[in-house]
Amino acid sequence: MPVYARIDLAFERGEGAYLFGTDGRRYLDFASGIAVTMLGHAHPHLVKALTDQAGKVWHCSNIFRIPEQERLAERLVAASFADTVFFTNSGAEALECGIKTVRKYHSAAGNPQKTRIICCEGAFHGRTMATISAGGQKKHTDGFGPLLEGFSHVAFGNLNEMRAAIGDETAGILVEPVQGEGGIRPGSQDYLTGLREICDEYGLLLFFDEVQCGSGRTGKLFAHEWSGIAPDVLATAKGMGGGFPVGAVLATEKAASGMTAGAHGSTFGGNQLAMAVGNAVMDVLMEDGFLDRVHKSAEYLRESLERIVVKHPDVVEDVRGMGTMLGLKCKVTNTDLIDRLREEGLLAVGSGDNVARLAPPLIVDNAQIDAAVEMIDRACAALGGGDG
Ligand SMILES: *Cc1c(COP(=O)(O)O)cnc(C)c1O
Repeated sequence: MPVYARIDLAFERGEGAYLFGTDGRRYLDFASGIAVTMLGHAHPHLVKALTDQAGKVWHCSNIFRIPEQERLAERLVAASFADTVFFTNSGAEALECGIKTVRKYHSAAGNPQKTRIICCEGAFHGRTMATISAGGQKKHTDGFGPLLEGFSHVAFGNLNEMRAAIGDETAGILVEPVQGEGGIRPGSQDYLTGLREICDEYGLLLFFDEVQCGSGRTGKLFAHEWSGIAPDVLATAKGMGGGFPVGAVLATEKAASGMTAGAHGSTFGGNQLAMAVGNAVMDVLMEDGFLDRVHKSAEYLRESLERIVVKHPDVVEDVRGMGTMLGLKCKVTNTDLIDRLREEGLLAVGSGDNVARLAPPLIVDNAQIDAAVEMIDRACAALGGGDG
């Protein structure tokens, strides 16, 4: 179906932060397949994990034990707030499972009327019926009604509106700690802390969508760790398999108390191939000092981009985001800047609110960042016709 207005460019090979196009050109990949190829392309450790597993068992169904899955779940639990994990193949499926977990928690606790989840304007949670209903954006829901009931929307970042929206039927709050598709907008530390307090006060479950901002993207395994608070339920996916489809829902034992045998399932979720790659990504993310290095490169990229904003105020007005999940808020049309960057040899991807998104692989080095920033500088000069 022609649901993507595709760019006329294909790739034959990738290596680290680079993609090699069938047009014979080399591109620095700061799109990362929309924040997915976390460790770049053809990472030797991931290639080995996938090919080794490919010669053993690909799939056997969750009706049997899957040791690779148990191992990844244990590692995620050890590294996070969670006590329990369910594996999926995508972000939307992780959100679906999280939504079910939130509703089931209250139902199992004798409060079946508590079904409603408060979400934020500008949110993106996926393209299934439940997740477009939760996202609530007209461009995603138009023509697909009736939508799933039970979602309200308030302004992102506004705790007063959040409080005012709570009623007897409220079950939980669903928020992206850093809004991705909505324009790379981080929730402040006070906002995330405030959400935790509200949920504790009203007995609601706090559900974070870290499909995009998780997996080390912000320099911590999960973005909410910067705020010092923890959710009850978390969905993650994009970067988790470094390009292999893997997602997960993490939850506390209490939040998942309704998810008993038979309550949920997935044919493919958590199969051996996916888990082999998920564990390999985790090996790298958890290496001593790896995330600290990500944090340092992210700071370096951000400082360089701040200088671009100062130099080209007629083209870009702001740098947003956290860690290696960054956005340039454009004064020109974001796609014009992105097209121009591609001509220079740099891949970026659009986001809402006229933002050009930069999500380099976590293995990006300072020389590659310098090269990218030079390309951004040239693209801005071409579009702005001056250097401000
Ligand atoms: C991409 C994304 C999703 C949906 O993930 P899919 O794998 O495309 O289903 C959900 N939430 C957020 C925050 C995302 O960025």
